[in-house]
Amino acid sequence: MKKVLAPYMKVGFKDNKLYLGFGSIKKIIHDKFEQKLILEILACLKKPTDKSGILKSLMRKYENSEVLSKFVDEIFESPYVIDIGIYKREDRYSRNLLYYNLNKIDPLKVQHALESKHIVILGCGGIGNIASLLLSSLGVRHLTLIDDDKIELSNLNRQFAFCEKDVGFFKTDILKQAILDRNSSIQVDILKMKITTENVNTLPIADLVILSADSNGIVRLINEFSLKNNVPYLNIGYIQDIACWGPFVIPYKTCCFLCQNNLANQESDFELMNLVNLINQKNQVPSNGFVNTLAASFGVLDVVRYLGKFGQVMSYNKRIGLHTDSLKWEEQSWSKNPECVYCKQILEPIS
Ligand SMILES: [Zn+2]
Repeated sequence: MKKVLAPYMKVGFKDNKLYLGFGSIKKIIHDKFEQKLILEILACLKKPTDKSGILKSLMRKYENSEVLSKFVDEIFESPYVIDIGIYKREDRYSRNLLYYNLNKIDPLKVQHALESKHIVILGCGGIGNIASLLLSSLGVRHLTLIDDDKIELSNLNRQFAFCEKDVGFFKTDILKQAILDRNSSIQVDILKMKITTENVNTLPIADLVILSADSNGIVRLINEFSLKNNVPYLNIGYIQDIACWGPFVIPYKTCCFLCQNNLANQESDFELMNLVNLINQKNQVPSNGFVNTLAASFGVLDVVRYLGKFGQVMSYNKRIGLHTDSLKWEEQSWSKNPECVYCKQILEPIS
């Protein structure tokens, strides 16, 4: 199999140390002999070649062919190289393919997986806007957008697919057009509806639901839908100024949302509850472009890792938050509860 040096591959020296690759693939080589050997192998790979081609051209210089062969093998297994024919600079997904290659996965496998998937985006606000644009840029085959809201001027601080001229129009209509402007090969369906107990079962059975709506009780409804229909979902959002995503629910494999009781309880004192309800009335979160962009980006990256089967999905069995005031990461454990009445109830055979 012929390979070529990956286009992102760079090397450099600092204080006599060879820096091999940058970013997460960086390695530091101290030994002079190894430095020269590796650089010569990489230089051979500036043109497409296979292992035997490199061995042939370097054999005369290196007496110990075993050492040479070992280094060639290691480099051929590393993300420093890419299969020939994958990277074409002008292709629309070429930079994404490089990113997958950097993540040590066959780039075409990831791309083909994405091009066969159907994702429901439930909620076309700040998170839904960015998630849709990201997914359309990745070439996901089919998106269903669900929302019944119209665009308001106050949405424009975070809902970047919308412009002033769109105010007053349905979010789903404008977002669909923005997706198609970006990538005309994607199938985009829209549903102008608010999800309720009565209509939740009319949702399409897709490969995944991104839950980016925040109406009361919506997570419970989607959790139930997910378990009944075996459809994974990921909740992406924010808590005030903390960008959050997770738990990523794969029915019966990971936790479900209700495996842990992380929700507020009702206080038995009627008077206190009245005060709580009064204070919480007309609550408005400071939703902005920063938290929406961060949460949507990290959430969609987990979705792509899951669908493309590479790297590590970070939000299984936990909710992850990035505090935008301190850049502190917080993880809220959401482990699978074997006694969870929701998972368990639905798992039992229907009599
Ligand atoms: Zn559960």
